[in-house]
Amino acid sequence: MSQTVTLIPGDGVGPEIADVVKTCIAALGVDIDWDIQGAGTAMIKKENTPLPDRVLDSIRSHRIALKGPVETPVGKGFRSVNVRLRQELDLYACVRPCKFYKGIQSRITAPEAIDLVIVRENTEDLYAGIEFMNACGAENPFLQFLKEQKGIELGCDTGISIKPISVSGSERIATFAFEYAEKHGRKKVTAIDKANIMKFSDGLFMKAAETVSQKHPDIAYEHKLVDNMCMQLVQYPEKYDVLVLPNLYGDIISDLAAGIIGGLGVAPGANMGTEYAVFEATHGSAPDIAGQNKVNPTGMLLSAVLMLDHMNEREAAIRLEQSIAAVIKDGRHVTADLKTTASPDPPAGTREMGAAIVEKINAL
Ligand code: NAD
Repeated sequence: MSQTVTLIPGDGVGPEIADVVKTCIAALGVDIDWDIQGAGTAMIKKENTPLPDRVLDSIRSHRIALKGPVETPVGKGFRSVNVRLRQELDLYACVRPCKFYKGIQSRITAPEAIDLVIVRENTEDLYAGIEFMNACGAENPFLQFLKEQKGIELGCDTGISIKPISVSGSERIATFAFEYAEKHGRKKVTAIDKANIMKFSDGLFMKAAETVSQKHPDIAYEHKLVDNMCMQLVQYPEKYDVLVLPNLYGDIISDLAAGIIGGLGVAPGANMGTEYAVFEATHGSAPDIAGQNKVNPTGMLLSAVLMLDHMNEREAAIRLEQSIAAVIKDGRHVTADLKTTASPDPPAGTREMGAAIVEKINAL
């Protein structure tokens, strides 16, 4: 029976990578009916918004979406499409697997054992947008509040961002991380924060993760401070499995982890909530190479692997991942960013790399 999935090709290179995904999924024999929805800068002229309501309606109706990158217009007063999607659909968990594939150049000496999943809280923390500008008086009443209520006197040149972290939000993301670990045969969850310094926000996150860990005795649990974790991921990335973090550290550690497996071009992602899931590559719209058949489709294809797994199309997910891995390892039909210095062949175009993956799918 066919399943309908919302497909948002997005801006820049988005339509090129969306085409490759559609071709590969058709080759896998998974019957998906794509509900294609335009979003991004092209929609601003046509519909006066980069995220028309019909896109949200489509995701609410089909519950699953695959999304290409969308540009956030700078200084035009539009809210980020990605932030709005997360808020409107309560996509509280950002999942970023970081696994090394042979054939990709990594600066780590033994990258083969890297196979991490980063679970980032998506709604709270310093990203909640509660900010006060550097001014005194009505524009920054928080300075007055601090002076009157706490006796803390800060200068009028001080800007303030508030870091809200709740027990409910922290337990919700920790539960997601442990349940993800159980479902995917993972062994350990590491909670990461700076609880030694920020006791009421990060300390609360740490305690919430500990509480949740006690309900999941089959999964090992440990706690690490975020500064130490940055060093650990560069020196001993193979020691880690599932990482769970508040929003800001999650954002930073996700890119660090993508860096050790070869960059954002090969990193997939998913934003998930209790009702809806939106799968997307982690790179942007790459306007410098848009429309040139140069973009590496791996990030979007690996996001489709996550989507198929979520749809319980386990066999198709494994076959797609193995086909992508085989083409990357072979190294002859990969885009320029994946070419090693030793490779004698010219880089493949996006479509040619997609065709090589389809060939592997048909051979497996
Ligand atoms: P970018 O990721 O688009 O590009 C950075 C560099 O990496 C460019 O040189 C680009 O050519 C290259 N690159 C990126 N993905 C690649 C791929 N798959 N294959 C080969 N090369 C690749 O980052 P940026 O330039 O900072 O952002 C451009 C636009 O994308 C901005 O408007 C930004 O807001 C948006 N953006 C969207 C998302 C999203 O929708 N999830 C994420 C990040 C950035």
